[in-house]
Amino acid sequence: KPFLHVEDLRAVIAETDQEILRGLNLTVNEGEVHALMGKNGSGKSTLAKVLVGHPDYKVTGGKVVFKGENLLEMDPEKRSHAGLFMSFQTPIEIPGVSNMDFMLMSCNARRKALGVPELSPLDFWSFLYPKLQAVNMDPKFLNRNVNEGFSGGEKKRNEILQLAVLEADMAILDEIDSGLDIDALQDVAKAVNNLLTPRNSILMITHYQRLLDFIRPSYVHIMENGTIIKTGDVSLASQLEKEGYRSLSAA
Ligand code: ADP
Ligand code: MG
Ligand code: MG
Repeated sequence: KPFLHVEDLRAVIAETDQEILRGLNLTVNEGEVHALMGKNGSGKSTLAKVLVGHPDYKVTGGKVVFKGENLLEMDPEKRSHAGLFMSFQTPIEIPGVSNMDFMLMSCNARRKALGVPELSPLDFWSFLYPKLQAVNMDPKFLNRNVNEGFSGGEKKRNEILQLAVLEADMAILDEIDSGLDIDALQDVAKAVNNLLTPRNSILMITHYQRLLDFIRPSYVHIMENGTIIKTGDVSLASQLEKEGYRSLSAA
């Protein structure tokens, strides 16, 4: 069952009309983990941001279907309510809002959109507790303001907790490995693996093969100059590690 289907997607920077995505094709089915790799500046983050509806970009061609619906017609909030989640390269801090309140609010906003009864704070705790365990997060982080003073690894893990709370169908993880030491990386990867089911999918953006040792993708895509130039299995990532991006370049 296709979750995300991207066809010949073109997008420009809204302010300058500079084209970044140049006819990109990608299909992610239910239960699959896809890795998107590519040199700095190849357009990976742009793709992620275009998919969640970031206002800095304008789609100029192609189509995107998410769970049977035209994603490009939805505003960013609706995309999130439809089950698309994105973890940003640098998660934002929200001073004055406790992490617990934030998680409860996001959870109920999605439930409302799905037509499922909202949770009371007490019910939310029973809902949340197993998810805290799945991502191995200390409950003390719930009393703190969202991401305020969190270390890099703690922020990333908090994003994964939010993903768990939203029970998103598809998550786009943009460089969740960036700035993490090997222990923090393994913790975050374990958290992601604990959330993987045959019912959800992940598009994992990374520079390095290292992450793929911990979260095994079904497919690896190489992006260059705004399109996917090669798709393969995990061995493509090892080839990249050994021979560099140059060995795969179209030019
Ligand atoms: P990647 O994530 O693969 O490193 P990006 O998608 O961040 O690549 O960027 C692709 C190219 O588009 C880069 O050259 C970057 O400088 C440019 N770019 C992306 N977003 C913007 C923006 N909002 N304003 C100006 N240039 C941008
Ligand atoms: Mg980059
Ligand atoms: Mg990027």
